[in-house]
Amino acid sequence: MARLTFLGAAGVVSGSRHLLEAGGGRVLFDCGLFQGEKLVRLRNWRPLGVPAAALDAVVLTHAHIDHSGWLPRLVREGFRGRILATPATADLLPLLLYDSAKCQAEDAAFANRHGYSRHQPALPLYEERDVAAALELVQPGPRGVWFEPAAGIRCRYHDAGHMLGSGFVEVEAEAERPGPLRIVFSGDVGRYDAPLYNDPAPPPPCDYLVCESTYGDRDHTPTRPLDELEAVTNEAIGRGGLMLVASFAVGRAQQLVYLLRTLMAAGRVPELPIWVDSPMAADALAVFRRHQGEHDFSEAKLAGVAEALASPFVRTARTAEESKGINAHDGPGIVIASSGMMNGGRILHHLARRLPDERTTVLVAGFQAKGTRGRTLLEGATTLRIHGRDIAVRAAVRQIDAFSGHADRREIGRWLAGMPAPRTTFLVHGEPPAARGMAEYLATSRGWHTVVPAIGQAFELSG
Ligand SMILES: [Zn+2]
Repeated sequence: MARLTFLGAAGVVSGSRHLLEAGGGRVLFDCGLFQGEKLVRLRNWRPLGVPAAALDAVVLTHAHIDHSGWLPRLVREGFRGRILATPATADLLPLLLYDSAKCQAEDAAFANRHGYSRHQPALPLYEERDVAAALELVQPGPRGVWFEPAAGIRCRYHDAGHMLGSGFVEVEAEAERPGPLRIVFSGDVGRYDAPLYNDPAPPPPCDYLVCESTYGDRDHTPTRPLDELEAVTNEAIGRGGLMLVASFAVGRAQQLVYLLRTLMAAGRVPELPIWVDSPMAADALAVFRRHQGEHDFSEAKLAGVAEALASPFVRTARTAEESKGINAHDGPGIVIASSGMMNGGRILHHLARRLPDERTTVLVAGFQAKGTRGRTLLEGATTLRIHGRDIAVRAAVRQIDAFSGHADRREIGRWLAGMPAPRTTFLVHGEPPAARGMAEYLATSRGWHTVVPAIGQAFELSG
């Protein structure tokens, strides 16, 4: 008998952790950090729900922290199995996980300074040595090739088109019936015609589907990211100040640089300095160059990431001094900094300095979870609390939906178009209205049997 247990990303857009038990094997699909509101983040301190040492393996769909960021904690709790990932995901993991350890340390130090932790002293969720121990367990393997994370469970990756290295996972699990039980874990599904990334590959038929639903209750406006970016950038230049782009350091930042350089090379936007203000984003550029074959360059006249990133207009700020140097710039220019939801990172210093200036444009280029500063700004806040101060918001706030790395409802529908109805489709990785929206959409438009699982809920998968 096979069993599927949802240990995270149920009712929230983070903490992806799905446990499959079949044929005596136990495999965790993704091992993400909970992010967003405090109540959600507190879940990171709870044990997994099954003993970490009892897991055979973790299969990662991609490197984003909400899918990989709990791995060091899992290792700290006794996990010693293999961590399986595509080569590009394996290459990105050190950047993301060491950065996450640094954030954990900073959070703990901040809590100690302000004395609000339940623990005295406050401790980080994990440390660099836990990251090093987790990275020792990583085994990269290419897409399209079957691998066996545990006896009785076979998997293979297909391109999910969501970020460098991303893959949805086709699983065959030993069953009591003749022939295996087939399950597909979508991970995060990318978008069609997204610049730099391939379209998501069509999913194979399956008995059970675990599908993301980040944008399950809406459709993105059907515009091209390059056109929207051109309009917003030219408007920002007209306003006369800096355009601050809050972005994930890995994936979105490189895509933005690529597109901005494409626009500048085509004369659609004037040549302007672009600062990539993040050591992690700078390191990620190198990983993107190593995996050029993964990318789809058909969008642009530029031959690839390397050309876009080697331009003298693209400046990377690795050190804090280099970052502070950007403050001296008065006039049009573009700063790309993390974090993507404005919950931390260097973007905060730029926001604190530039938000009161009406010449500034803030570009929001990704999903903004409830309770984040990014969401607050989008909701029209006139002040924003940063580093303990209320900062007046006079800047223009713009959003480009097209930059979302996630398929919307219509695109998930397109992705699943050729798939015969699974017995059950589980909708995960969505806030409750989005997960319900996707469930209703598939039920009404396709007649599929859908379930929105709760955290901790387990399902017997009949063979
Ligand atoms: Zn993702």
